[in-house]
Amino acid sequence: MQTACHRSAGNDYEQQRSLSARIFCGLTILALPLVLFNVMETIPLLKGCVWGPFQSPRLGRTLWINPLPTAYKLCSLNCLYCRLGASDNVATDVTPYENDMPSAERILSSLEDTLLKGADFDTLAVSGNGEPTLHPEFGDIARGIRGLLADNDIKKTFALLSNSTTLVKEDIKNLVSEFDLPIFKLDAGREETFERVNRPDPHIKFEDIVTELKELGPGIHLQAVFVAGPSGNMNARDLEAWMKIIREIKPKAVEIYSTNREFPGMGIQMVPLVILEELAKKAEKYSKIPVVAYGNWR
Ligand code: SF4
Repeated sequence: MQTACHRSAGNDYEQQRSLSARIFCGLTILALPLVLFNVMETIPLLKGCVWGPFQSPRLGRTLWINPLPTAYKLCSLNCLYCRLGASDNVATDVTPYENDMPSAERILSSLEDTLLKGADFDTLAVSGNGEPTLHPEFGDIARGIRGLLADNDIKKTFALLSNSTTLVKEDIKNLVSEFDLPIFKLDAGREETFERVNRPDPHIKFEDIVTELKELGPGIHLQAVFVAGPSGNMNARDLEAWMKIIREIKPKAVEIYSTNREFPGMGIQMVPLVILEELAKKAEKYSKIPVVAYGNWR
């Protein structure tokens, strides 16, 4: 016998299949000029520990804090679509890289100089050339920045952009409350998709990330990057799993993006904004959580 829940899940699945079919057609038509122009560039690495401000579609005028090396990307993931390009430095243990990272003291003193010069910004965001929470002094950095903002009576949004993989560490999870706007990545609703799209360090388990995100729930924002194609995360099964997970996590809001370049030979493609907007509407209806699509990452 089919229960109400099964019927609801079945209807949702059919609707998602239909969305997936429309996405495929839309992509074929809308992405063709982009493919023809073959936009391939990666973005440059941030060349300092305090960088900007730059305009961000979502965060406004943003001053970026980069606690990571400036010569290479250092991350616990190696996402297929990463705007910094692929990396050999995929790690959860960053001991071999520590000498290339700025100390908490240096970051705080650079930021203080920038603040004293009267930098004009809306948001101060900790992000950078990879995963910022990998920095061994991340606690000192987060608390130190919060203190600097308070001491200088600066009432700007303090944001974190993290890929969620370090939330299994209690000390990192406890720091989330230091931020006005903690944003965590979740591009997948299934382990298989996570492994394919985000290519994690082998110590990282998808189900651990989901467990931690569920604990944080309404205290965080989620962000997801979607890419089409055979290696992407836009097929009906992946979309259904992702929507179910965000409904279970219950974040305050979800922001979705695609990339702004093409990836010849990698089995992924950018997703036009019109398709993302359709997905956002669908996900919002399904999860009852605000979901907003942006045309450009960050
Ligand atoms: S988490 Fe961000 S920095 Fe790390 S590989 Fe993915 S996109 Fe790149």
